[in-house]
This record gives sequence, structure tokens and C-alpha cells, in this order.
Amino acid sequence: MTEDSHDLVIAGSGVAGLSAAVYAARADLDPLVLEGDEPGGQLTLTTDVENYLGFPDGVGGMDLVQRGKEQAEQFGAQFRYGRIEDADLDGQPLELSLSTGDTIFTRSLIVATGASARWVGAENEDELMGYGLSTCATCDGAFHRGDDVLVVGGGDSAMEEALFLAKFADSVTVVHRREELRASEIMVDRAREHDDIHFRWNTELEAIHGSQTEGVTGVTLVAHPEGYPREKAESGTNVERETVEMGGVFYAVGHTPNTQFLDGTGVERDDSGYIFTRTDNTGRPSAHTAVDGVFAAGDIADPRYRQAITSAGTGSMAALDAEEFLEALPDADESMATASAETVP
Ligand SMILES: Cc1cc2nc3c(=O)[nH]c(=O)nc-3n(C[C@H](O)[C@H](O)[C@H](O)COP(=O)(O)OP(=O)(O)OC[C@H]3O[C@@H](n4cnc5c(N)ncnc54)[C@H](O)[C@@H]3O)c2cc1C
Repeated sequence: MTEDSHDLVIAGSGVAGLSAAVYAARADLDPLVLEGDEPGGQLTLTTDVENYLGFPDGVGGMDLVQRGKEQAEQFGAQFRYGRIEDADLDGQPLELSLSTGDTIFTRSLIVATGASARWVGAENEDELMGYGLSTCATCDGAFHRGDDVLVVGGGDSAMEEALFLAKFADSVTVVHRREELRASEIMVDRAREHDDIHFRWNTELEAIHGSQTEGVTGVTLVAHPEGYPREKAESGTNVERETVEMGGVFYAVGHTPNTQFLDGTGVERDDSGYIFTRTDNTGRPSAHTAVDGVFAAGDIADPRYRQAITSAGTGSMAALDAEEFLEALPDADESMATASAETVP
């Protein structure tokens, strides 16, 4: 086990963490970026990104984050494997316990740990994610002009995705495992009134067909009149199975913000776990959380837009706020010395 001390730790190496790292490294803050279990973040799950500024011909998701990492390293950012498992954020310095067994002390922390889209466990989803299977209609809808596409989910976000996709696709089929939707009435009405959106009740996606070369070509759906057909199939009940042609699949079954390590800290979050950032004393947005020295950037503080470009924007805000915080922090060396004295026998 090792112990070490930093001015700034950035949790997450998705677009938000990388953007924060570029800004912080250029400001000589020597940031340490903890990459988590998914170096590069969600964009590594997609092939083409067409809506990130500066790439008129589009850019591969992996390529974009790799370039971001190189840019941050060029200015001196350090990267390290490891996920924060626990955090003690009461007073200076902040203390982070990592999945590697290491403990890190830092004067400031940018949380850019993202929100992972939930997957449904259909056959072939690992292989086809980013190749016709997506969790983001705003991002990938435009690749499906003229296709028949499937949306999995029954909440407001599924209705929003279906309505958005109907602008491009020939038809949108929404499958839901029950007969009633969780979505608000207004969203349901809008979707139901749309000529190109169709619903299949008591139905679930069992398998996705296709390949990384062809993309998604079809799906196998299971149905049972009493709902929850996959559970029923697993317990041996007869279900109806149908394989249909489909050009794309979109999961809209929610996201899980990666903030479990903040349980028990003063960082305020909403009921789902998304971090609240504070406004400054003039009422303008900032990246400060409710805990001094802790900042948030990217999807983790943004259940609404969840885009690469907005994540990069808030990443830069977090680095600028952290820089200002560190400049104003008194007795830095003293607080680190106290921490070392307390922990080294
Ligand atoms: C299939 C798909 C396609 C997409 N296409 C587009 C697109 O075309 N255009 C667009 O603008 N957006 C797109 N998006 C959305 C975009 O990817 C996200 O908005 C963006 O990646 C969010 O960046 P982030 O840095 O906030 O989080 P993420 O990219 O989710 O990164 C989170 C990082 O945090 C790390 N982490 C997690 N937990 C911990 C922990 N406890 N300790 C340390 N590190 C941790 C992870 O390892 C990861 O590195 C797409 C998303 C998906 C899933």
C-alpha cells in the first residue's frame, strides 16, 4: 500500500475528466487523473461522433478520448488506474481510498465519474453496443435515417428518445415489459399520437442480431400476456417469440450515476445520485459542490443534456474553480503535514 498527496485529483477519464485535466495541467496544478474501470469513459462505446465541435468529418469515440489524454499528458497530467471506493471529505486534506488498496490525500477533487447507462442483458449487446445499438438517441439517431428502430423502455426518457428518433427513422417500435408506461401522460400522448411510433406491450428484447460490420439487422422479442416475459421464460413458462428485421436498437432504461463512494459525505445529490453543483453569490452556475474543495463535472452533475461537448465545458469550469479554490487555500503544506503525521506510525 502507498500513500501520496496531491493538489488536485480528478476522478474519471471521460471527456469531462480529460477536459479538466487539460485546463488544470496548463495551470501547473499537476493533476492526478484516476481512470476508474472504464478509461476514456462512455465515448469508448461508440464508433462515430458527429456532433463534437471541430471535427467536420466526425471522429471515432476512442480516437477523441485518446487525443484528449495525449493533450492532457503533454501539459503534465498524470494518469493512474484505480477507482475511488471511499472518500473522507471532512476537512483538509481530503482522503480517498482506491480499489487498488492505495490511499491518496488531496487538497481538491473534481468528480467526473459519469453516469452509466443501464443495459438490459439482451444477447449480443456487448458486441453490438456502438454498432447500431446505442443508449443515446441524440447522439446516434441521425445514423438511422430510413431505418426501422426499436426503443426499449417505458419512462419519459424512452418517450423522448422515440419522438426524437421518429424524425429520422421510418418507424419506431417501443417495447415495454408491462402494459402500462411509467412515463408522464403528456409524453405518452405525444408518442401515441405520432403515426410512426408503435408500441408492443408485455414484450421484451431477448436478442439483437447483426455484426460489427453490418450493424444491427434484427431483434428477437419475447411476449407474454401477463407481462415480464423474460422472467416467465426463465421459469419455464411458454412465451411467444418473434424475430423481426430492425436497423437499430436504443436502450432507454435509465442511467446510474457513479457516486456511491460519496455516500456519507456532505456532497449533495438528488434522489437518483446526480450531484448538485452550487451557484455563485451572483446566482451564476459553478462547479462547486456542497463540500469545499470538491467540484463536479460532466454527466455526473447533468441528468439532462449528457453530451460530450457539455461534459468538456463543465470539465473546464471545474478546473478553473479548483484553481481559484487552491489559490485561496491557506496553510496547504501544514494540512498535508498534519495528514502525514496522523497516518504514518
Ligand atoms: C453509445 C454512446 C454513444 C454516445 N455518443 C455521443 C455522441 O455522438 N456525442 C455526444 O456528445 N455524446 C455522446 N454520448 C454521451 C457521452 O459519451 C457522455 O455525455 C460523456 O462521455 C460524458 O462524459 P463524462 O466524462 O461526464 O463521463 P464518462 O464518459 O461516463 O466517464 C466517466 C469516467 O469516470 C470513471 N469512473 C467511474 N467511477 C469512478 C470511480 N469511483 N473512481 C474513479 N473513476 C471512476 C470511469 O472509468 C470513466 O473514466 C454517447 C454515449 C454513449 C453511451
